[in-house]
Amino acid sequence: MKKNKLTKSDLIHFLQCEDQKELDKLFNRAYQEKMENVGKKVYFRGIIEFSNICSKDCFYCGIRQSNQKMTRFRMTEDEILECAEFAWKMGYGSLVLQSGERTDREFIEFVEKIVRQIKKISNDELGITLSLGEQSKETFQKWFDAGAHRYLLRIETSNSRLYSTLHPPDHDFQYRFQCLEHLRNVGYQVGTGVMIGLPGQTAEMLAEDIIFFKKHDIDMIGMGPYIPHPDTPLASKVKKFDKKKQLTLGLKMIALTRLYLQDVNIASTTALQALHPEGREFGLKAGANIIMPNITHTKYRDNYKLYDGKPCLNENAKMCRVCLEGRIGNIGEEIGYNLWGDSPHFQKKQKK
Ligand code: SF4
Repeated sequence: MKKNKLTKSDLIHFLQCEDQKELDKLFNRAYQEKMENVGKKVYFRGIIEFSNICSKDCFYCGIRQSNQKMTRFRMTEDEILECAEFAWKMGYGSLVLQSGERTDREFIEFVEKIVRQIKKISNDELGITLSLGEQSKETFQKWFDAGAHRYLLRIETSNSRLYSTLHPPDHDFQYRFQCLEHLRNVGYQVGTGVMIGLPGQTAEMLAEDIIFFKKHDIDMIGMGPYIPHPDTPLASKVKKFDKKKQLTLGLKMIALTRLYLQDVNIASTTALQALHPEGREFGLKAGANIIMPNITHTKYRDNYKLYDGKPCLNENAKMCRVCLEGRIGNIGEEIGYNLWGDSPHFQKKQKK
């Protein structure tokens, strides 16, 4: 494999490849690429899933508006700040605020207030990533001004036909792309990602997703294997769910994205761990460099299941840190405590 010269047909080839020796070479090459571009430090983003109230109805998502089986919650301001303080004291460096999508004024102001408060109680030391769906440019700006500096907005797929099988007709495919532009113009580090192994998704579509990341100059990638949630319409389209195949496909996407984009931050997502107890470590070995430990209060976690079999529902945040330290140490990597761990890709652009 020639360095940095992957073509679209190379991407498709590896996405379809089942030869373990060839795949091991791919993962090793991606790991070297990671060492050269981002090093062996793993950065933590403590994730607070503060509300499962969502105005959207994505066909794959466990907290979609139509799912009546879900008990809806929103953490209080004090509860969120308590989690943030924990992250700061544990040296996590950064956190992610995630929730279902809402665009009403009360929500926008609530988030703005929380972001300001988190910056205040952490002496400006905690980096803040938001993952709160599609918003207006003004809202993105408001939250940026309050102190958030990274935003994750997964496109889920770059293919419009596939997108329409995942969302009701009123979910606007083009507006999502426009949001990525707004985020960049406001000044955020921009993150996106896709679901991997969806019904109807081909290797070519996944290859095009990776090319999309590059073309749109994305700074951070958060993507994971699709895992069906039983209370969603998309789950009925899955004939047979093959955990091993989904895991391998997820790892191939990480490795190929590392080789194709080189200096971006890539998360090793919890969905990998849902498929294998060591899934997140495999992700790091395939080229990822970010881990998002769940620091949400355990009492809320059962009601924030976007997919089935989500791990660590009962582990409290302290147990989670101990567990991760062991797992990361075991593969010879170290945790970048008290560091924001910004995307080197973004930092290089700032210097230009
Ligand atoms: S994927 Fe996001 S926007 Fe869609 S239903 Fe789930 S939480 Fe809401």
